[in-house]
Amino acid sequence: MRRFLFFLITTILCLSIQAQTQKWQGKFEPIDRMIAPPNTYRAASGAPGKAYWQQRADYKIKAVLNEANNTLSGEETITYYNNSPDDLSYLWIQLEQNVNKKGNEDFGSINNGIKDGMNARQMQFLTRAINFPAGYSIKYIKDQNGHAIKSLVNNTMMKVLLEEPLKSGTSMTFSIAWSYPITDRSMYLLSREGYEYFPEDDNTVYLIAHWFPRMAVYNDTEGWQNQQFQKLGEFALEFGDYEVEISVPEDHIVASTGSHQNSDHVLSKTQQNRMETARNSFDKPVMIITKEEAEANEKTKSKKLKTWKFKATNVRDFAFASSRKFLWDAQAVKLPSNTVMAMSFYPKEGLPVWQEESTKAIKHALEVYSEATFDYPYPVCISVNTSNIGIEFPMISFNGGRAINGKMSDAAKQSMIGTIIHEVGHNWFPMIVSSDERKWMWMDEGLNTFLHQRTVAERYPDFNSTTPKSIVPFMSGDKNILRPIMTTSDNELMSQFGANFYLKPTVGLQMLRNSIIGKELFDQAFKEYANRWKFKHPNPADLFRTLEDATATDLDWFFRGWFFTTDNVDMELTNVKWFKVFEEKTNIEDQKQKSQFKIEGENTTVKAKDFSSGPEVINMTTTPDAAYGQFLSRLDETEIRKQVLGKNIYEVSIKNKGGLIMPVTIEWIYTDGSKEIDKLPAQIWRRNEYEVKQTFIKEKEVAEVNLDPNFEFADVDTTNNSFPKVETESEFDAFKNKETGN
Ligand SMILES: [Zn+2]
Repeated sequence: MRRFLFFLITTILCLSIQAQTQKWQGKFEPIDRMIAPPNTYRAASGAPGKAYWQQRADYKIKAVLNEANNTLSGEETITYYNNSPDDLSYLWIQLEQNVNKKGNEDFGSINNGIKDGMNARQMQFLTRAINFPAGYSIKYIKDQNGHAIKSLVNNTMMKVLLEEPLKSGTSMTFSIAWSYPITDRSMYLLSREGYEYFPEDDNTVYLIAHWFPRMAVYNDTEGWQNQQFQKLGEFALEFGDYEVEISVPEDHIVASTGSHQNSDHVLSKTQQNRMETARNSFDKPVMIITKEEAEANEKTKSKKLKTWKFKATNVRDFAFASSRKFLWDAQAVKLPSNTVMAMSFYPKEGLPVWQEESTKAIKHALEVYSEATFDYPYPVCISVNTSNIGIEFPMISFNGGRAINGKMSDAAKQSMIGTIIHEVGHNWFPMIVSSDERKWMWMDEGLNTFLHQRTVAERYPDFNSTTPKSIVPFMSGDKNILRPIMTTSDNELMSQFGANFYLKPTVGLQMLRNSIIGKELFDQAFKEYANRWKFKHPNPADLFRTLEDATATDLDWFFRGWFFTTDNVDMELTNVKWFKVFEEKTNIEDQKQKSQFKIEGENTTVKAKDFSSGPEVINMTTTPDAAYGQFLSRLDETEIRKQVLGKNIYEVSIKNKGGLIMPVTIEWIYTDGSKEIDKLPAQIWRRNEYEVKQTFIKEKEVAEVNLDPNFEFADVDTTNNSFPKVETESEFDAFKNKETGN
């Protein structure tokens, strides 16, 4: 009796300590208060609301590329439609080129520590020792009648002051003339555009993007999205139609957003014929310009200009590339509702891999993404070769990947093909499903990387692709530098944004698809989100709500943990107890006596390390009549007894050490070597967020139990996932062995 009392006291103490240190955190509570509430613009279902509106901007641009002094100048006419319910007394226009001006607030903020042994390029980033000219010269802003409009520039944003407010439901047309020095891409950190000079043949490849003054977004959640451009957070842009005329040296080839309007004027008869052939070539690309022809072009160095004309409908941006170095291949890709010309442009330095792989990768991306969301709606999809990086614009992307001395490692080739798929994929996120990149980098990078990895896994099965295991090093990293996914783009560290904004959301979506919701239902919901928000501006809440609305799955616990915290998944299999039920009539005294030594758990000093000491005995008594109360029916207790008698009952104890709520997958390995899987939903953690016990009944005897055997949930420490416990080298032993050279 004294012993019993002692146990009772310690148990109560343990419980009270647990209650103090591990308080309820509400991990299953709705996230309604953490996200913007629904309203008439954005419905509670996650779809655009009845009163959803967005602005529109149409552009007519004439631009001239001056190769002699690397300058781009242009005149543009913007027609801006105020579809908002508000009257606007001023407009904001983005001037991204100003980010490269010396003295800009962004300057030096990214790479701001002096290190021992910096190279000259790093020193330039830090000090701007050489001051290259950069940024816009605005020649005029005038209204339709030619009257000057007053404007004020604040770094990368220009405020256009209107004499009369632009009334709700009306539009205005105005013009801007501008020019800027095109920058050498290699001289700036995070440059997505600029020129690349090739001294061997004295030629340049121009990658021209965020080049013309563009309307900032005005919407229901931000008002004007006029956050300064600081390079990491990309763009928020309005949709519209474009008519663009680009004048370049007459021996240049232009690759551009939009459908080409004057092939007969700028292409040779041979090139036009080859394009006709390519339009009917569905199995392989046709060379429009060959290597020999490109090499001949490299030498001509014409000073005369030629004008290329393009039209693009319903795009949020416009980019182009221009050079006399380009080889060009093209083929047709048939989608259920559209036939697209997939085309690649590359200098000879991109050979041979670019010719072999680029257009093929475009085709794979077009097919997989279209199937997963909606058919690619545009007429062309272009991949332009660059020395490095990958960057996307509507219908065109600039992608890195070059062989060195004609050779490319397998890893480099995989990364090159992955980059092309990724940047083509950005046509969906954010070029069409147009989330705000400057605010939420993860919304386009995460969703796009998810489909990019799916494309790689489906079309290039031999390649490495992202799985939940890929995020473990990041999620088990230093908590002091980890930020939640729901961190605005420019506030993330340069060393962390890849893992946090690309990989972590990708793995989250993979877990939802493969392990939490299920493939078919998830795919429908993902498609629903893409279709609800195509050519619109979704916010995070619209994605979260749609994924729940279209699956009947409460995912608030998942969004709360995965997107709003830096917790990780670390489940510990603390104990597995083995029981057997014996008949009441047998001499239980003897068995009890024996099993006393076998009792394991918190209340005993000795924990069983494995199953070798046999099962504990459960004495199952008859339910007293009073327990059934007034109910007339009685359980068939003889039948219950028959069902459990002699079977193996296992009580599994699992601790949540990482903090993230997750479903639990349990693998049973029986003594005969066979295996079985049991899946527990995340909801097992509702009543106790720290530790759960679950009971299973098995015919066979178990030899080993493992948690998350297939690495579905990014468990950061799998050494505590097994019973019997796997003996792992302690840190001290590891240190000792290292010291002694073992
Ligand atoms: Zn990306």
